[in-house]
Amino acid sequence: MAPIFDRRQLMALAAIAAGDLCRVASAQSTSSRAGTWPDERQIGSFLAHADFDLGKVERTLQQTGALRWDLERTLHVGPPREAINLFLFEREETFRAYVRLYFPDVPQRRALYIKNSRGPGMVFAHLHKEFAVDVRHECTHALLHAALPMVPLWLDEGIAEYFEAPADKRVYDNEHFGKLRWRAKVGSAKNIESLETVAELSKMGAAEYRYAWAWVHFMLHGDDAARSELIAFLADIAAQTPPGKLSRRLRRRLPNLDNRFLSHLATWRRSDS
Ligand SMILES: [Zn+2]
Repeated sequence: MAPIFDRRQLMALAAIAAGDLCRVASAQSTSSRAGTWPDERQIGSFLAHADFDLGKVERTLQQTGALRWDLERTLHVGPPREAINLFLFEREETFRAYVRLYFPDVPQRRALYIKNSRGPGMVFAHLHKEFAVDVRHECTHALLHAALPMVPLWLDEGIAEYFEAPADKRVYDNEHFGKLRWRAKVGSAKNIESLETVAELSKMGAAEYRYAWAWVHFMLHGDDAARSELIAFLADIAAQTPPGKLSRRLRRRLPNLDNRFLSHLATWRRSDS
């Protein structure tokens, strides 16, 4: 099917978006301007621009606005230092055409977080059944990078996987457990050092995403010392203090780290189930 916008319309749309980016960069307190995208709204640190009525995704917008507080409460990550633009499309074709036109070197993905050194972060997504998951995942990346000067790749993905679930599904009931639990019961898991060696996003396969999530879940729920080490690690990054390797820091605190991780995956469940 033909996209909603032809190339000329798309360029006009992008020019408006680019204008918004400059505006946001120069004045964070800016509010939506009528007559730009069909619908626009400020939600906390996010400035959402959509080619459809944002009322359709009200719940996702509220959850996305709450993410900032979730990150602060859980990881003690500070507030974002800049606004984040959210570009939302009704149709996949429009989303793909838009990204291809303005970010031709970016690999095509279902949703994207893009940030260059000159401007605020941008999240792109389109409506489909996993829309809310995609938006929470990419917006978690955006919030982390708006608050911290860097985040190790695997940890960035692990934290985004953790917060992509709705708040009531983060601690229990995550679908990742299904694939991890039986392996853990026979003593099989990826150690944290193997994740730290992954240097490119293209090398993050499904297993790497699963174990990145699992290590984050373990640190947050499996052991108080691991949780405080993760928080201290992120605080060092925020303070621009060289943080060292998280694996080394965790092993110093928890000599039997791998066994504790395996045991967490094998046994974690609601106490009433
Ligand atoms: Zn991601």
